[in-house]
Amino acid sequence: MTHLVNHWIGGRTAEGASGTYGPVTDPATGAVTTKVAFASAEEVDTAVAAAKEAYLSWGRSSLAQRTAILFRFRALLDAHRDEIAALITAEHGKVHSDALGEVARGLEIVDLACGITVQLKGELSTEVATRVDVAAIRQPLGVVAGITPFNFPAMVPMWMFPIAIACGNTFVLKPSEKDPSAPTRIAELLTEAGLPDGVLNVVHGDRTAVDRLLEHPDVKAVSFVGSTPVARHIHTTAAARGKRVQALGGAKNHMLVLPDADLDAAADAAVSAAYGSAGERCMAISAVVAVGAIGDELVARIRERAEKIKIGPGADPASEMGPLITRAHRDKVASYVAGAAAEGCEVVLDGTGYTVDGHEDGHWIGISLLDQVPTTAKAYQEEIFGPVLCVLRAGTYEEGLALVNASPFGNGTAIFTRDGGAARRFQLEAEAGMVGVNVPIPVPVGYHSFGGWKDSLFGDHHVYGNDGTHFYTRGKVVTTRWPDPSEAPAGVDLGFPRNH
Ligand code: NAD
Repeated sequence: MTHLVNHWIGGRTAEGASGTYGPVTDPATGAVTTKVAFASAEEVDTAVAAAKEAYLSWGRSSLAQRTAILFRFRALLDAHRDEIAALITAEHGKVHSDALGEVARGLEIVDLACGITVQLKGELSTEVATRVDVAAIRQPLGVVAGITPFNFPAMVPMWMFPIAIACGNTFVLKPSEKDPSAPTRIAELLTEAGLPDGVLNVVHGDRTAVDRLLEHPDVKAVSFVGSTPVARHIHTTAAARGKRVQALGGAKNHMLVLPDADLDAAADAAVSAAYGSAGERCMAISAVVAVGAIGDELVARIRERAEKIKIGPGADPASEMGPLITRAHRDKVASYVAGAAAEGCEVVLDGTGYTVDGHEDGHWIGISLLDQVPTTAKAYQEEIFGPVLCVLRAGTYEEGLALVNASPFGNGTAIFTRDGGAARRFQLEAEAGMVGVNVPIPVPVGYHSFGGWKDSLFGDHHVYGNDGTHFYTRGKVVTTRWPDPSEAPAGVDLGFPRNH
């Protein structure tokens, strides 16, 4: 039986009124299990209106009230980890343990939002001039919107809305239409935690819903995470309408392995970071650069580990890697591998023929490993977003660094070495927003901010951490003079105010 996912507006389910629905597929079986309502521009307007109405009181609510709700939400989320992870696995396909990890990383941002009191503390300078004090405060923006990708249906929305609402904004979320159930369930939990109606709204849909959010005059800021072409469109369109925008895009993350590295540790890390979540992570390692003469040995160790990965349905505890999100995406990923040999790559492992018995219609693809990849190969130049790892060779550290820095993307990068001096140089010289030293997926903890450089982020703010608070608030400086009652008024002075 097909399940139906509707919008969540004003603290309750809002049935789709546009007559348009999208299919949600279980990637492990290929079967359509769910229909998701697609919002029309008018339905988006209804959600924005609910958020605007809620902002009148939420924007003025006390920090104590907001954090009490967030603490209750945290407890509910903690209690429902398994349920949310199961929803993720059913629609995204990733294995249950990975889905649990995603919920845990989202919870980390809720933890941060529970402590928003500290981050929102203002500044006060007294007696900056005679009897004059200056206070700097930060205030919410109003209604803000979040548009999120399929690959982290719970975590990426939680990069955004906990901070936004803790700062006093109200929120309209447009999650990916490919796996809409987890974010909708999370919105229900927030209402259960006591969040007033309209503070968090969820509208489902496609470009129609997104474009209405981008042009709506009552939406003051837009957070986006997804592919680079869409991120660029979101940034250009929303900024042209005077909105604050942070738009995080795609990636091609390089891992540099220096000749002195622990090759077993490097191979473990490369395999985990390349094939975890079937490569559908924006921080996945998709290019390993072997520096010096270690290439053949490193590839042999990667191969040995990669061949043992157990691929199967995400709900099966024996599976280490699940299927890809859609059949079309599976076919696209396979096309990079199919074309690799003709482009000069050495195909060490070809996973394109992989299938799982009894689940033949699932979106399966096995592990692919490409060696001696030339920089001209499509598999290197484009973000594949699947379980395909490219290995390149570089003669020196400088040659390896040049590859990292020539990439149009700059999300994350990592170096594996025992040489502290080389690692230090890399930290400073790598053109990427997040750098790992012997850490392949350097996703910052909640109280630091996440974001890339170059085509991996458009806008000035990274997400969560201090940048998150700054993005969702605007500064105000209040200059106050309270003359001493015993003093005579200063009198008229047409000169520009000076401090004395
Ligand atoms: P996507 O860009 O196709 O979709 C993201 C969101 O935008 C979805 O909600 C979708 O409905 C909407 N959308 C899609 N096309 C649109 C259009 N033309 N106009 C307006 N809205 C549109 O991305 P995806 O396939 O869901 O996610 C995978 C991509 O996200 C990868 O490129 C990955 O690297 C990237 N990603 C980046 C980060 C990061 O932090 N930089 C994190 C996760 C995912």
